Amino acid sequence: MALIIRDWAASWKEASAVLLRYFNPVGADASGRIGEDPNGIPNNLVPYISQVAVGRLKHLNVFGTDYKTRDGTGERDYIHVEDLARAHLAAIQFSGTSKGCEAINVGTGQGATVLEMVKAFEHASGRAVPYKIGPRRDGDVARSLAAVDKAERLLGWKANLDVADMCRTTWNWQSTNPNGYAQD
Ligand code: UDP
Repeated sequence: MALIIRDWAASWKEASAVLLRYFNPVGADASGRIGEDPNGIPNNLVPYISQVAVGRLKHLNVFGTDYKTRDGTGERDYIHVEDLARAHLAAIQFSGTSKGCEAINVGTGQGATVLEMVKAFEHASGRAVPYKIGPRRDGDVARSLAAVDKAERLLGWKANLDVADMCRTTWNWQSTNPNGYAQD
């Protein structure tokens, strides 16, 4: 898809395209009415933790503790969905005045490990998040962090919300919607 957009932008001098490279979007709308409700067992860390905290899943499986990170667990750049939404608005505004195609990272530039996310979620929810250490997941990298200078330079955008905000809003959504969007 990115290639098609790049080709399109290269083929027409008036074209303007912005490719937003999402890092790890998490969190929920401040209203508590819109949140993440994956089908089946969540693949991603934060929805999984959240479903453990609310009692839908027994424990988190931590995929590897032998990475070269602060505590051996995988480190990612989590970005709040509200910040992500603002990045889209900034990108639309930017594309009104720019030409060509730009790929722009959307992250905070700050990393959190799996165990740091567990702690942050326990703090935000007041619930225990039991976990078991397991093997690495195939295909995972140790760390993935965004370089955020381009977003700030071109879009005038930067993330405002941190991991505590991500966990607080996720828990607000999950605790008021323990079964997600399913009807009770
Ligand atoms: N992870 C984990 N247990 C899970 C899901 C994810 O330990 O049940 C770890 C995963 O190995 C990675 C981090 O949490 O280090 C973020 O994983 P996620 O799938 O959310 O994002 P991605 O790996 O695609 O960046």
